[in-house]
Amino acid sequence: MLRLAFLFSIIFAHMSFTSPLQGTEQTLSIIKPDGVAGNHIGEILSRFEKNGLRIAAMKMTRLSKNQAEEFYSVHRDRPFFEGLTTFMSSGPIVVTVLEGEDAIKKNREIMGATDPAKAVKGTIRADFASSVQNNAVHGSDAPETAKTEISFFFDKDEILR
Ligand code: UDP
Ligand code: MG
Repeated sequence: MLRLAFLFSIIFAHMSFTSPLQGTEQTLSIIKPDGVAGNHIGEILSRFEKNGLRIAAMKMTRLSKNQAEEFYSVHRDRPFFEGLTTFMSSGPIVVTVLEGEDAIKKNREIMGATDPAKAVKGTIRADFASSVQNNAVHGSDAPETAKTEISFFFDKDEILR
């Protein structure tokens, strides 16, 4: 009996982690090696929180060149792939799952355009990016990519509420 209760509590705990609350969405954010090296972790995370996004998971890690190539595999045939994956594996990164209403779009707005020269004033990239490549943050671009990108970095039980 006790064992059964234990089993159910595990299953329930597992359900209450993982998926976003109803009406909310999850997205993957990365503070790239330039953002970490520039000491901007706190400032960048506080922008997410101030804009109503909740940090549901977080880790600091470093990608190998192979892992960076796997993460950015959609861009494999682009001319910037080699530079991008060398850069992304050049130092520690901070990876978070952000949760909130319209989180994917909201995060992209807070980030600003890929090219910092085109990013709206007050966005992360306008304030902290130094080039199109070294542009401080990554953010998922759609629900399907958010799902794969989140599971690239996090197990289900590392996403918390
Ligand atoms: N990138 C680059 N040169 C380019 C376009 C993109 O180095 O001409 C890099 C940049 O770091 C960018 C990443 O590749 O953030 C992924 O490109 P994407 O077009 O998906 O931009 P994002 O979604 O990050 O705004
Ligand atoms: Mg992208």
